[in-house]
Amino acid sequence: NAKKATKSSVQFYSQKLKDASQRIIELENALQNAITNHEFELFLQPMLDLTTGTILKAEALLRWNRLDTEKIGPDEFIPIAEQTGLIVPIGKWVISKACEMISTLNHRGQNCKLSVNLSPRQISDRHLLDFIRTSIKNNHIQPDQLELELTEGVLVDNYDKVQFLLTEVRKLGVSVSIDDFGTGYSSLSYLKKLPIDHIKIDRSFIQDLVNDENDKAIILAIIAMAHSLKLNVIAEGVETELQRNFLQLNHCNLAQGYLFSRPLPFAQFCDYLTTTANQTLIGQSALGPK
Ligand code: C2E
Ligand code: MG
Ligand code: MG
Ligand code: MG
Repeated sequence: NAKKATKSSVQFYSQKLKDASQRIIELENALQNAITNHEFELFLQPMLDLTTGTILKAEALLRWNRLDTEKIGPDEFIPIAEQTGLIVPIGKWVISKACEMISTLNHRGQNCKLSVNLSPRQISDRHLLDFIRTSIKNNHIQPDQLELELTEGVLVDNYDKVQFLLTEVRKLGVSVSIDDFGTGYSSLSYLKKLPIDHIKIDRSFIQDLVNDENDKAIILAIIAMAHSLKLNVIAEGVETELQRNFLQLNHCNLAQGYLFSRPLPFAQFCDYLTTTANQTLIGQSALGPK
C-alpha cells in the first residue's frame, strides 16, 4: 500500500514538473517572437512628489499582450527572459520605448522623468551603455529624464560591472534607483560606494505599516539613513491615505501606488497628467484672488 502511494505521488509530481517545464518552453518560444509581433507594451505608473503633490516621474512597467491567451505578468515572464538571455533585446526595446515616450511627453509640454527596470543579464551586456547613450541622443531628450532601477541583488552579484556601469551612467547624467530596498541580502556599504540617487522602499514594508510598529521603525530608519547619505526616498505600493499620511509626515520624498494610480497605457497616462495638473490649477485659482 505504502509502495503504491509513493509510486502514484512520484507520478503526480513528475507530471507536475512536466507541465511546468512544458509551460516554460512554450513561453520561451512565444517570447522569442514577441518583439517582432509587437506584443509588448510599456505601461507607466506615476510617482507623486509628497511635498508638492505633483507628478514629475513615472515607472515604466512591461506588459505582454499575447493574442488569444491569458494575460501573463512580468513576475512570470521576466525570469524566463532573464534565464534565456532574451531580456537583453527585450530590455533594449524597453529603454528605447521609454526614451520615445519621454520625447513625446516633452513635445506635449508634459515633461516627466521615466524610470526603467534593469535585470542582471543586462548589466553584463557590454553594449548597454552605448545603447542608452544612443537612445537618449536619437530621441533628443535630456539624460536626467531617464532613470535606471536596479535591485540590491543585481548590485551584489555583479559588483565590479555595476560600479563601472553606474559611474559611466552618472557621467551621462542618467540617475539610478535601488529597487525593492530592504529585501536583499546586501551589505549597506555599497550605498556610499556607488553613485546612487534614490532608494525605493519595498512594498512589503508599506503594506501593514499602519498596524505594524516594526515596519514603521524600519521605514523611519531607511528614510533617516537615506537622507543623511543625500539620497531621495520613494515608497512603493502605497494604497491608502493612512500610509500616505505617515510617509508624508515623515519626509518620504515620493510615493507610488494604487492610491494614486495603477500602471497605465501611454494615452491614459497622458490624460492622467492633464487631469492632475488641472486639479492643481483649479486648487490654486480657487485660493487666489478672483
Ligand atoms: P517593480 O520594479 O518593483 O515594480 C513595482 C510593481 O509593483 C509593479 O508590478 C506594479 O504594478 C506593482 N505595484 C505598484 N503599486 C502597487 C500597489 O499599490 N499595490 C500592489 N499590490 N502592487 C503595486 P508589475 O508591473 O507586475 O511588475 C513586477 C516586476 O516585474 C517589477 O517589480 C520588476 O521587477 C519587473 N519588471 C516589470 N517591467 C520590467 C522591465 O521592463 N524590465 C525588467 N527587467 N523587469 C521588469
Ligand atoms: Mg521597479
Ligand atoms: Mg520595486
Ligand atoms: Mg519588485
